Amino acid sequence: MKPRVRIAPSPTGFLHVGTARTALYNWLFARGEGGKFILRIEDTDVNRSTSTMTDAILESLKWLGLEWDEGPYFQSDRFSIYKKYANLLLKNGACYFCYCTHEELEDRKKKVVAQKGAWKYDRRCLDLSDTQKAEFKKRPKAIRFCVPEMEVNFEDGLHGVLKRSSNDIEDFVILKSDGSPSYNFACVVDDHEFNITHVIRGEDHISNTFKQILLYKAFGWSPPKFIHLPLILGHDRSKLSKRHGAVSVLDYRKDGILPEAFVNFLALLGWSPGGDREILSISELISLFSLDNLSKTNSVFDFKKLEWMNGEYINRLSNEDLFDRLLSFLPTTDSQQLVANKEYGLKVIGILKDRMRKLTDFFALGDYFFKPPVEYDKDGIENYFNHKETQARLSLLKDRLSKLEEFNIESVERTVRELALEFGIKAALLIHPIRLALTGKTVGPSLFHITDILGKDAVIQRLDRAITFLRSATSKCR
Ligand code: GLU
Repeated sequence: MKPRVRIAPSPTGFLHVGTARTALYNWLFARGEGGKFILRIEDTDVNRSTSTMTDAILESLKWLGLEWDEGPYFQSDRFSIYKKYANLLLKNGACYFCYCTHEELEDRKKKVVAQKGAWKYDRRCLDLSDTQKAEFKKRPKAIRFCVPEMEVNFEDGLHGVLKRSSNDIEDFVILKSDGSPSYNFACVVDDHEFNITHVIRGEDHISNTFKQILLYKAFGWSPPKFIHLPLILGHDRSKLSKRHGAVSVLDYRKDGILPEAFVNFLALLGWSPGGDREILSISELISLFSLDNLSKTNSVFDFKKLEWMNGEYINRLSNEDLFDRLLSFLPTTDSQQLVANKEYGLKVIGILKDRMRKLTDFFALGDYFFKPPVEYDKDGIENYFNHKETQARLSLLKDRLSKLEEFNIESVERTVRELALEFGIKAALLIHPIRLALTGKTVGPSLFHITDILGKDAVIQRLDRAITFLRSATSKCR
């Protein structure tokens, strides 16, 4: 039988990178095995679920390319189905009505805790007398599962047989008094109804799985295979959270990460194809991914590695492709600027591509290709505009360059090197201040490629501005 797997996010927040990794593993497994990947939105918590979050989750999955074969199914559309199944369990005595109010429960809990006891539902409503039932009749009622005494166990695909005594599990609510199902109940009903064969989800759900196994038994259904993935941690080895950096998938899109790089990165957070290969295309991931190679230990989310990997992906794009990606990524005014002169934009891409780690780096690294530097780097001023000769050297350079008939990489380089020889200084001593004058920065791509792209007029104008700047700086010193 072909696998049927699912991702079941709750729209109470954005798509977390942990859920994205879970989605990816389910998706890769389905694609590799010719199975189906199903999307279920677990929006039973009416107060905390929002359609904005649902939209953001769908958009995140689409951005990652994790298209689903069925769904999205919404649990909020299925309340009558959960009720039907709860009635089934009521009929066979596997659950009972609970009339306890929130305040009553809190009250009793407090008393137990004050005696240093561990609270679990005290079964007050399990065997109510007829008088008590009549007394509670007007109260809203929830349905609780009556946990049988037994050892609960299941075989986890990654961790082997996991056991727990049902004594540690309280009679949990399956249907709340407002008619909404609890997570465990809706999850079991849906996984059963949708013929889910494998439940691949985070290790933080193991304690839920024991409850779910009890429900499968009560219904007489055979449970799917469970695979609980180790957690994703931050650099300090605590569970990855906002403290460590962005945790929402869409934040990475906004930060200029490419979806294919992000997918590649997520795939390796808890799975490895063996060997030391790290850059893997989607089709390679699909063919290599296997539940047998999952890691049993938690993995650390390494932001630096993600940036490195993204840089590798950017560098492998054709200039045209990167141009298109920038267009859809950059704010309208910036992309309009690119479209206005595509040929120029492609040249800039060509020179910056191997330095970019994120799409946002395009203007961060190369803003000077589109406008003269507004100011010069402070360290640059200190280190490269400090020599008293600089102003005179740049002036002479400007004169020579303006006389060049052919202004290209070779002719500009020749002019700069010849001038350095005349001054009796190393070429670098000339190149640094020129770079600062033209770009405002102290580092960047090869100077002569920059001058070639900027063109003669811009180069002369910018040298002029730097000369004026140096002149006023010197006069201020006097
Ligand atoms: N809604 C749950 C979550 O987002 C789904 C858990 C499951 O996959 O069963 O964690």
